[in-house]
Amino acid sequence: MKIKALKGFKDILPGEVEVWQKVETTARNIFSRFDFSEIRLPVLEKTELFARSIGEDTDIVEKEMYTFVDKQITMRPEATASLLRAYIEHGLKVKKPVQRLFTIGPMFRHERPQKGRLRQFHQMDVEVLGSESPLVDAELMAMGAMLFKELGISVSLEMNSLGCPLCRPAYRRALLDFIESRKDGLCDDCRRRSSTNPLRVLDCKKTACRELVDQAPSILEALCPDCKTHFSTVQDGLKQLGVQYRLNKFMVRGLDYYCRTTFEFITKDLGAQAAVAAGGRYDGLVEKLGGPKNTPGIGFAMGLERIVLLLLQEKKVTIERNGPDLFVIGLGDKGLELSYGLVHDLRSRKIYVAMDHEGKSLKSQMKQANKAGAVHVLIIGDDEVDRSRGNLKEMESGQQQEVKLEAASLVEVMNLNM
Ligand code: ATP
Ligand code: MG
Repeated sequence: MKIKALKGFKDILPGEVEVWQKVETTARNIFSRFDFSEIRLPVLEKTELFARSIGEDTDIVEKEMYTFVDKQITMRPEATASLLRAYIEHGLKVKKPVQRLFTIGPMFRHERPQKGRLRQFHQMDVEVLGSESPLVDAELMAMGAMLFKELGISVSLEMNSLGCPLCRPAYRRALLDFIESRKDGLCDDCRRRSSTNPLRVLDCKKTACRELVDQAPSILEALCPDCKTHFSTVQDGLKQLGVQYRLNKFMVRGLDYYCRTTFEFITKDLGAQAAVAAGGRYDGLVEKLGGPKNTPGIGFAMGLERIVLLLLQEKKVTIERNGPDLFVIGLGDKGLELSYGLVHDLRSRKIYVAMDHEGKSLKSQMKQANKAGAVHVLIIGDDEVDRSRGNLKEMESGQQQEVKLEAASLVEVMNLNM
């Protein structure tokens, strides 16, 4: 029986992988322009890290995590918790009071696989730790907008404020009262969670719950003066940087750690999987995870699968890898032997060279060179070996030139040709 990949786990093959590389290169370039440094984190962490940060009664922790129950460790479902764990563990606040970090890698959630929704998926995640400034919120969103613009993807930005521990309790009570009176129409999950965490109900995707919360009180009207000022400065920042946005008073995000600014970049082109990137502030989280007091933070994560899908479907990008600078065709035992060493020597001089090791015919190797899109071809048979010389053919023009069969002079001739 053939063994296939697990459901929701996907191979990324040559042909598509070039699009991923393009997205990652563009993102890395923008992240460094915005003064971010890379951090690489492990895929496995203690289960408790996610339970404590994301929240026990969120979808992620309740039903989506891949956990080794006997070891109490979990495949990370998102990056923020791990990044904060590393930040605290290595005392990064002491090294730099405001840390700007990004990380790229796979995440794991046991969800129903669909277009743009996998069980192993990939995020590019950026976090700023140690700043409460609303200008940082606006700058982060502006960075996201710049990335999507440079990639040629059209998205819209939606934003909300979730308040802080001062103003949220009163809003929570008002929301709870509202929900209590209409509890019967809610789905099972929402009914169960409504008393412990009524904000989760706002995040439910089921139509019945959506309709019901439509009339719910808005958190934006319940913000305390500090949160109000913070949020309006975020909006001023966005306006100054020319970033369009829309307020969405029901966006609460599916993770418990958020406060104040939350946001999502949304697309209309991926059906139900509308969020291409999402994030927000989490000012109390560092302390909650045992880190230094008063360490505010904000960040967001971009879903690579969804970005790549959009690039493939909207713009029909196919990125072909460039062909080799040279394809060496070795014919016969002697030709093959000389080619083998010469190719290695050229590669050590940083030239991209391909060859065939299967002893195929001249015709078949010519075909391979064409298919690979080789810029030059060099044929080495018995005669060429005897003379230590051969004909370097430039494929596009068809021009041929006699060359010495040694790496240094070939490099010189090819550099002149290219
Ligand atoms: P959704 O509402 O689509 O489930 P989410 O709120 O669970 O998204 P976050 O946890 O905020 O998403 O993760 C940030 C981004 O990661 C999402 O906006 C999305 O682009 C991507 N993402 C999340 N879950 C998946 C998944 N299972 N497969 C592919 N991408 C995902
Ligand atoms: Mg989700």
